[in-house]
Amino acid sequence: MTSPVWHPFTQHGLNEPIPHIVSAEGPLLHLADGSTLIDAISSWWVTTHGHCHPRIAAAIAQQAGTLDQLIFAGYTHAPAEEVARGLIALAPRAAGQPDLAHVFYSDSGSTAVEVALKMALGYWHNLALDGLADARSRILVLEHSYHGDTIGTMSVGERGVYNAAWTPLLFDVDTIPFPAPGREQACLDALEAACAQAPAAFIVEPLVLGAGGMFVYSADLLRAMAAICRRHDVLFIADEVMTGWGRTGTLFACEQAGVVPDIMAVAKGITGGSIPLAATLATTPVFAAHHSTDRARLFYHSSSYTANPIACAAAAANLAIWREEDVLGRIARLAQAMAERLTDLAGGPAFANPRQAGTIAAIDLVARDAGYLSDLAPRLRAFFLEKGLLLRPLGNTIYLMPPYCLDASQLDRIFAALHAAGEKFGLHA
Ligand SMILES: *Cc1c(COP(=O)(O)O)cnc(C)c1O
Repeated sequence: MTSPVWHPFTQHGLNEPIPHIVSAEGPLLHLADGSTLIDAISSWWVTTHGHCHPRIAAAIAQQAGTLDQLIFAGYTHAPAEEVARGLIALAPRAAGQPDLAHVFYSDSGSTAVEVALKMALGYWHNLALDGLADARSRILVLEHSYHGDTIGTMSVGERGVYNAAWTPLLFDVDTIPFPAPGREQACLDALEAACAQAPAAFIVEPLVLGAGGMFVYSADLLRAMAAICRRHDVLFIADEVMTGWGRTGTLFACEQAGVVPDIMAVAKGITGGSIPLAATLATTPVFAAHHSTDRARLFYHSSSYTANPIACAAAAANLAIWREEDVLGRIARLAQAMAERLTDLAGGPAFANPRQAGTIAAIDLVARDAGYLSDLAPRLRAFFLEKGLLLRPLGNTIYLMPPYCLDASQLDRIFAALHAAGEKFGLHA
């Protein structure tokens, strides 16, 4: 019987296998047929401490029997209050920059970014109402960015086959070239010139551009970008949806640059990867621009499940794990183990451009011919599946983003499969 389920990012016409998973624990996924996969990409970058973490699962069960859902317009509950205070306490901070002090909840990374964009335009709109500034509405974006799949987030992301059908719906943005090695100054110069045109905001994925190809850039560049924005009064939006929750080696990537964004979007690992939740953090000036006795200036955004108590309870348990356990130490050890193996892999002829930030590691497979690229990723996916691994290459870029509980022998299995993939699919094969 064919399934009625329409899967995301899946071409059903290719009839690729769709494994049926029945349970999970730590870095492992168990299949209906009794076999096991190592989840080497944290089930789309969300699972941080491991699947079915007992503490998070217990918090969900407890909250589900206490308060399951509550309208969040005009009402509040303890888990939402606790998580908001916890996020503020853990958020990046730096002398001389306004603190992130306000938390707006939503349900996914895409909505957290949409909210960030709406806050940025709302900020300028409300300042203009008071004659304090000209209304600004243009958004600056970094080349190769990914910020989500809704209309607004596709608008600020890289254009391509992924969104070609919806181009007529997407709004115009100004694109700053990615600071690839040798082009750092060109990137900063372009940002400076674009900022001089008084745009509303610049949105970036700090340190690592994820879905666009796992491109990394330095903390120095991130700091320089933020400084340019500050000098021109352009709001700096950090999309920490992927980079947050320890992925790059610090809790948030912005910390490494000493940058406090004006607006910061978090999602993915906020509940340890257990249940959907997202938050957009804002500084007091951004909040204050909406704070008034005038109802026309309130922040017009909500969804039915905003700050769902069960999701917030999961996030509270995640925050407690971060406070009480040496998660950063665990991440540092895993990142070191990944670095050693990545260096070894990069020494072979089949791979190029190794790059890493914390527990995100990527490398390009030098494939046999470019025309082959289009079906290389699914072929690699099938190859890894056969080897007991959940991996999902982006074109010829193979990346790892494992849960922090992955052990050395599991990492060895992953890298053995990468070596084998190089032999089978590499140019020199
Ligand atoms: C995944 C991702 C998003 C979108 O998050 P969803 O929860 O999938 O909507 C946004 N920004 C970045 C950087 C991401 O990696």
